Amino acid sequence: MYPHILRPEEPYGLVLTFLNTLEIERGELVDTINGPRELREWLTKAGLIHDERSRGWLECAPVLREILLEAHALREDLLRLVEAFSLRETISGSALFGLNRVLGVTRASVSLVITPEKTTLARHDWASAPLSVLAPIALDAVHLLTNTDPTRTRRCAAPQCIRWFEDTSKGGRRRWCSMQTCGNRAKAAKHRRRLSSNA
Ligand SMILES: [Zn+2]
Repeated sequence: MYPHILRPEEPYGLVLTFLNTLEIERGELVDTINGPRELREWLTKAGLIHDERSRGWLECAPVLREILLEAHALREDLLRLVEAFSLRETISGSALFGLNRVLGVTRASVSLVITPEKTTLARHDWASAPLSVLAPIALDAVHLLTNTDPTRTRRCAAPQCIRWFEDTSKGGRRRWCSMQTCGNRAKAAKHRRRLSSNA
């Protein structure tokens, strides 16, 4: 159902996957969270619905519609912020306001979780507003904007792709959102060009 892949294990996978819910398919701009049902499924897959209260919000049509409007507004603000960040342009005040509005509803506590494999800090959100369902995305965006080198946050170089990715490669020369899709297509096109120029 999802042409994009949720990759929470990648750095900033949550915010980047959220931005990549807008993509180009067969030359057309497609919004993969364009309706309440699609958004509910996306939020669940992204691991943002983990308690009775947030599950209840998603079952309530007017609340879900409200979250949908908020998600679209947040995505627009984040796209403007991340784009300006990656190009090192001036950040729009209204986009920043939109991000901070979502962050403002975050009420979280943290706890230390120790397992034989690793020691991690776990977050527990307990905000009462439905908007708080989107707060982890906003927080992930804040980490991206404050912790990374702007030149490493990029849009895919494929002409028919608008996906964002974080380049964590050693050389910093990654160009494609995914080697399996755009990278392979570009390689095949290059190969075809080489064959035809040799013909
Ligand atoms: Zn791509």
